Amino acid sequence: MRRRGKQNQRQQIFNGIVYSFAVIGVIATVLFFGKLITGRTSSKTTTASKVKRPSIQVELLDINPYSRPGTKLDEVKGVVIHYTANPGSTAQQNRDYFEGLKDSHQTHASSHFVVGLEGEIVQCIPTSEQAYASNKRNVDTVAIECCHPDDSGEFRKSTYDSVVRLTAYICTKYHLSSEDVIRHYDVTGKLCPKYYVEHEDDWNRFKADVAEKLGE
Ligand SMILES: [Zn+2]
Repeated sequence: MRRRGKQNQRQQIFNGIVYSFAVIGVIATVLFFGKLITGRTSSKTTTASKVKRPSIQVELLDINPYSRPGTKLDEVKGVVIHYTANPGSTAQQNRDYFEGLKDSHQTHASSHFVVGLEGEIVQCIPTSEQAYASNKRNVDTVAIECCHPDDSGEFRKSTYDSVVRLTAYICTKYHLSSEDVIRHYDVTGKLCPKYYVEHEDDWNRFKADVAEKLGE
């Protein structure tokens, strides 16, 4: 009887130890996964709250060798700003001009986005494909064409604000900083976007406005 009593006692101690380890294991698992979930949620919230997607009219060009080659853009490393060099033309007209190149064969040209005189945004090419806009940087950048009312090439406030927001949105989406935002001029030396090449201070202000949107 005493022997059995001791055995029972041992069994109880053993059960107690197993039970304690099981409880500790469950608590550790809950804490571990809890942290994972919380971590993921908070990082998602931070990215999403930075810059919301602006309203975009998606009017993709047909795939063709003159304006939408359909070539994959593997990694976006920058955003290139352009001006249309066609005073008073609208975003829709510029988009339609790119589309018309598939028949006119005039030249090779396009842009991922065109921002209009009222700040409207028309998308011509998905950002997962290359555009014909920025020469050797077509392979790793997203291009934005900006409409302007006159020969100076300066953007209207409505256009300017919209371009800042779109640029910041693209930067957020591809984990870029305002330092990754460049002008066509910075790639080839071309006078594009004219006003912001001729007025370096205004270009720096544009980049500062993008930086502010990004919370840099
Ligand atoms: Zn350009």
